Amino acid sequence: MSAGSYVGRFAPSPTGPLHAGSLVAALASWLDARAWNGGQGGRWLVRIEDVDTPRCMPGAAERILAQLASCGLVPDEPPRWQSHRGAQYQQALDQLLACTLAYPCACSRKDIEMAHAAAGHAHQRHIERPYPGTCRHGLQGRTARSWRFATTKFIQKQALAPVHKTQQAIFSIANNCLHWTDRRLGPQQQDVEHSVGDFVLRRADGLWAYQLAVVVDDAAQAITHVVRGEDLADNTPRQILLQQALQLPTPQYLHTPLVRGADGEKLSKQHGAAPLVLESPLQALQTAANVLGLPALVHPDNTSLGDALSLWINAWMPLYNRAL
Ligand code: GLU
Repeated sequence: MSAGSYVGRFAPSPTGPLHAGSLVAALASWLDARAWNGGQGGRWLVRIEDVDTPRCMPGAAERILAQLASCGLVPDEPPRWQSHRGAQYQQALDQLLACTLAYPCACSRKDIEMAHAAAGHAHQRHIERPYPGTCRHGLQGRTARSWRFATTKFIQKQALAPVHKTQQAIFSIANNCLHWTDRRLGPQQQDVEHSVGDFVLRRADGLWAYQLAVVVDDAAQAITHVVRGEDLADNTPRQILLQQALQLPTPQYLHTPLVRGADGEKLSKQHGAAPLVLESPLQALQTAANVLGLPALVHPDNTSLGDALSLWINAWMPLYNRAL
């Protein structure tokens, strides 16, 4: 990562149109790029994360881009689509396989449950437990279904490896825990080995896993700063490990506050969040700006979109850019 550049991105999954929650992440990543270096500004890209094709909704990506444009959030390059990038993800998987940091796995969900039960681990509803490592040392004649990252092996290897100084400021590995600093949440840590284990890179249905695709694309687009919703904060350690295993740079991370519905649940498309209404972009932006702690518009009816965005760019710097 070059100290003198900034490339940020907003990476929506087109499972539905933008809603009040996803607009917060979009606005935050746009403001962070535009406010960079005292307002000199960096580049801001949009990537359509349509790898999970069964969950994508036809036309949602185009609708998201139109919603962003109506809010004045226009990317500096044409958007990139993950569904066109299978060859690059395969190349990354091949690279990991070649250095034995990935392996094929024959286990179904049921096999994994059974292995946990056999080890005496109590079943907990809605809690995904780490992979028990059944195929870590070979398929024993079974057929490969998915491909996994060798987390345990890599953590042990990495704990001993020297980390470049600029990267050390962003993350480190100590006592088998990955430590990293989020620009908003501060110091974070995760024991990836015990909390997620050997995670999936390519799924049993042949689709690429989010973790691999996001790491390959953040590097391919030379992303220096990732700004996204806080629900993804606990994915960051997995992504940092993959970046290191693939010898890619680690960007800086900032996770934004989540918008919650009346029931306290995170607002999401799956949860039935209402799509943003294109006719009132300023109102939608003001709501998103509130969530980010940015000032309210004094005369909302007489403020142009451009003036509102400029006001928030200036307000962004002292709030979030101190660590840059
Ligand atoms: N595509 C992911 C989502 O919409 C976001 C990925 C990211 O920003 O890293 O939840």
